[in-house]
Amino acid sequence: MFLEPHFKGQRSGWIEVICGSMFSGKTEELIRRLKRAKIANQKVEIFKPKIDTRYDEAKVVSHDANFILSTPIEHSSRLLELTEGVDVIGIDEAQFFDEELPDNCQRLALRGTRIIVAGLDMDFRGKPFGPMPNLLAVAEYITKVHAICQHCGNLATHSYRLSNNPDTVVIGEKDAYEARCRTCYHMGNILDLRARPDRKEKEGAKERRLA
Ligand code: ZN
Repeated sequence: MFLEPHFKGQRSGWIEVICGSMFSGKTEELIRRLKRAKIANQKVEIFKPKIDTRYDEAKVVSHDANFILSTPIEHSSRLLELTEGVDVIGIDEAQFFDEELPDNCQRLALRGTRIIVAGLDMDFRGKPFGPMPNLLAVAEYITKVHAICQHCGNLATHSYRLSNNPDTVVIGEKDAYEARCRTCYHMGNILDLRARPDRKEKEGAKERRLA
């Protein structure tokens, strides 16, 4: 369990990252920390990327409806404008933010702000997701939370996509993904390619376009 550090005479803030797969409880952990900051009478604000419109626009909603109000923003540079006088900034679904998010978090930390970032560390292909790897490199504190593999019951670190959609962003997670351990994730991909060879062709074509 993460406990808040306290430094007497601390001049700068710091960055905490909460990462893991789908269904691993990242948002719940973010909300837990923010609620404790509120109890300590600190000014708390939450932001999320505008792309995430699965739930109510004005809330960070975790899967058990344990929510805190939040502000959707289009670019991480808005954080610098909107957080004057804020002690603790929560950022949810950080993987969908722009590549400038790590630099902007560092600017905020230098201002004296505590930043708590939650996001998927890997996409459904098992690749580092958006700005998350760079955030993990510059953070003071990292917590990797785990889901439970829906096939074997071991700890899950991977988000397995059930649908055949080649886009990285699929909204409506509950139907589209399963949390899986490393072995079940890779077994699923192998079986999937045998059953649906068109999937490999589609993803190969997409990677060629990106290259
Ligand atoms: Zn498993």
